[in-house]
Amino acid sequence: NVRVRFCPSPTGNPHVGLVRTALFNWAFARHHGGTMVFRIEDTDAARDSEESYQQLLDAMRWLGLDWDEGPEVGGPHAPYRQSQRMDIYRDVADKLLQGGFAYKCYCTADELDARREAARAAGKPSGYDGKCRVMTAEQEAAYLDEGRTPIVRFRMPDEPITFTDLVRGELTFTPENVPDFGIVRANGAPLYTLVNPVDDALMEITHVLRGEDLLSSTPRQIALYKALMELGIAKGVPQFGHLPYVMGEGNKKLSKRDPQSSLNLYRERGFLPHGLLNYLSLLGWSLSGDQDIFSMDEMVAAFDIKDVNANPARFDLKKAEAINAEHIRRLEVKDFIAACEPWLRAPFAPWAPESFDRAQFEAIAPHAQTRLTVLSDITANVDFLFLDQPAEDEASWNKAMKEGSDALLRTAREKLAAADWNPEAIKAAVVAAGEEHGLKLGKAQAPVRVAVTGRTVGLPLFESLEALGRERTLERIEAALA
Ligand code: GLU
Repeated sequence: NVRVRFCPSPTGNPHVGLVRTALFNWAFARHHGGTMVFRIEDTDAARDSEESYQQLLDAMRWLGLDWDEGPEVGGPHAPYRQSQRMDIYRDVADKLLQGGFAYKCYCTADELDARREAARAAGKPSGYDGKCRVMTAEQEAAYLDEGRTPIVRFRMPDEPITFTDLVRGELTFTPENVPDFGIVRANGAPLYTLVNPVDDALMEITHVLRGEDLLSSTPRQIALYKALMELGIAKGVPQFGHLPYVMGEGNKKLSKRDPQSSLNLYRERGFLPHGLLNYLSLLGWSLSGDQDIFSMDEMVAAFDIKDVNANPARFDLKKAEAINAEHIRRLEVKDFIAACEPWLRAPFAPWAPESFDRAQFEAIAPHAQTRLTVLSDITANVDFLFLDQPAEDEASWNKAMKEGSDALLRTAREKLAAADWNPEAIKAAVVAAGEEHGLKLGKAQAPVRVAVTGRTVGLPLFESLEALGRERTLERIEAALA
């Protein structure tokens, strides 16, 4: 039975790297009919926040990445917030000490720094040198007399650690590169190095899929797991798979601080959750046949961790937008209309709420659906329908209004006043107006479009005029002539 976990720390806003990790775990769990555990790693009171915790839950719900055990749903290994599991960690740390798998280390930060520098200068490995591994009772008593408080340090085995990464194949870490490491602070607070593998063991996690930045902690966790197995706390060592780095601008690692990495930004711009997930799935993985657009069901059916590519993935906003646009196009019209809803209201919509006309919107919506990259673009595309005056944009105006535009608009007004009110008849009227002035349709359309919508680009013009209605169209042409 496959059991995976998504275990973010509630610090800051959720970012796309985190979402990619959640997605791959979720797809893996769903593909294998396994269990998705959602755990909150909030053992760092100084950095964790309740707001960030709520945002994580909200993000997962919005994305549709559901979990089988975790906050709000509970489960056999509750609680799923590490801040509520402190007794467990204390108990395990004691057992590790008693079993000789860990020891108390009294070295001060200054002493550690000095020895690290000296090792560096001598060209030797600069990790912890094992000074406190063996200690006489007298030495310990002397340290305590000095008022030192120890940390708990895990004793790494003296042999290399080899494991087969599900993404990167066989990896070996030699002891010089993985020194003994702290698991409990001097003030008694347990560290990530302890709580993460302890919970993975207790929650019977079978596969750990996470970012490559955590690769260096894997040999330590495997060693700790083996100790937990000897203590009867762990049943086995999980398999590990490290997902490739995501590179942003200038081929640098996409950082949490990079605005492009903020999940909220994609939500606010109106990415569809599955559009964003579809794009993020391509950061290290692909559906066979290089099919770029697919549903989450298709992803789940096809997802195999062995297909994840170890090479860094490049984050490409343009591609994310193109994929999202395609998902918008594929919605049922009624779902598209529902998805636009937030951007048809305050604070996004610039029109007065009572000016909104649902029938007008629904008439134009199918034309908007084929053109939007992100849902938030809907506002500017339809505002001409609901504003009293079209949005004023001088640059557009100057671009479209040339010498002779007035004459053209006058003719267009006459023809439109007499035309049937459907897109074909409206088009015929504009074509005929253009012909009278020796203008091709493209040139004839531009002043009409700006006069009526305020913009040089937008939804198909004739359908837009149809939705706006004859009276308001003529009024606006009138106003442009004034
Ligand atoms: N809480 C850790 C983080 O957010 C989890 C790392 C892991 O997956 O082991 O980085």
